[in-house]
Amino acid sequence: MERILLCKPRMSGREIDYIKDALAEDWAVPLGPDVTAFEKELGEYLGTDHVVALNAGTSAIHLALLALGVGQGDEVIAQSMTFAASVNPIRYVGATPVLIDSEPRTWNMNPELLEEVILDRERVTGQRPKAILPVALYGMPYEIGRIMEVAGRYGIPVVEDAAEGLGSEFEGRKLGTFGQYGALSFNGNKIITTSGGGALICPDAEAAARVKFLATQAREPFPYYQHEVIGYNYRLSNISACIGRAQLEVLPEYLAHHRMVQDLYQELLKDVAGVEVHGNPDSRFDSNFWLCTILLGNADCGTLNDGAPDSEVEALRRRLDEARIETRPLWKPMYDQPVYADAPAYRTGVSDLLFRRGLCLPAGPYVTPDNVRYIADIIRSEIK
Ligand SMILES: *Cc1c(COP(=O)(O)O)cnc(C)c1O
Repeated sequence: MERILLCKPRMSGREIDYIKDALAEDWAVPLGPDVTAFEKELGEYLGTDHVVALNAGTSAIHLALLALGVGQGDEVIAQSMTFAASVNPIRYVGATPVLIDSEPRTWNMNPELLEEVILDRERVTGQRPKAILPVALYGMPYEIGRIMEVAGRYGIPVVEDAAEGLGSEFEGRKLGTFGQYGALSFNGNKIITTSGGGALICPDAEAAARVKFLATQAREPFPYYQHEVIGYNYRLSNISACIGRAQLEVLPEYLAHHRMVQDLYQELLKDVAGVEVHGNPDSRFDSNFWLCTILLGNADCGTLNDGAPDSEVEALRRRLDEARIETRPLWKPMYDQPVYADAPAYRTGVSDLLFRRGLCLPAGPYVTPDNVRYIADIIRSEIK
């Protein structure tokens, strides 16, 4: 049996047609008609006209911070429980990440803590943070209504890290369209791939034009090369956009597949004591379930970890690995990462618990219902 991977990319079969057409017209260039078409088609899917295709989700977050004017000496409030790519761009612009803990329903940024932290940072630094960066972990929308309400009340812009949340919805609206900016990723392991790429959803045409300008070396409109600000080489290649266009055609099918796999895990594991499958907290949330995630045991919230998952979780991971199943611990919180040891952090212990007790299970387009039954059987027999 082939190894069952977390989220192996799957081609629709049409990628080659788009690429052939582009190559026939010599469009093997950094930008081109397929990039424009990909932006338009993605925008139609998301319900916005202001999408900029980029070479990575990380670049999208970086450009959003630049577009908001975040820089040296500023603070940005970021969700601590995430992948490093959410937070690193804060450092790229010379700002300081203020890391805040998650709440247990969505596993994402805690809105009450957010308000306390805004007030505390004002007390400590005399300044309001310049941006708020919530993440849709594993596709699960964060408490969008409450986060936006707090952000709006204090006049702080929100950059949504929806890198894992393409196709997820909150109250019927697509993720990435709630904040001033929304970042998406099309890396090889995400919901769809461009072989490497991302996009930034912008608030209006002017902001999108500014982002494109920064992403193409900040060339001023002169007949010669004139540069007045620092630019980047962050645009998507035309060939990558070809892959993206073909992947968009199967996006609805892939989303349905991820949700079907999730439902099956929930059904098969629902009466296994000591295993909790993370589902939508209520009917406003509609996660894409990029990966299925579980928590083991009933450890107390509030204890801090020693830097590694609990032994029971590691034992299950190894057992599944022997059975040719790839699983992975949840994201290790940024406030526990050596590289962010000096960043201000506001902890409640929730993300420490998630990291210690959690595991991601395979859910990509190649994972079959039989695979899920096989995985669930092993988990059931291992957890007593
Ligand atoms: C993948 C990911 C990113 C970065 O996207 P890339 O396209 O790999 O640069 C950012 N944030 C989160 C939460 C991610 O999972």
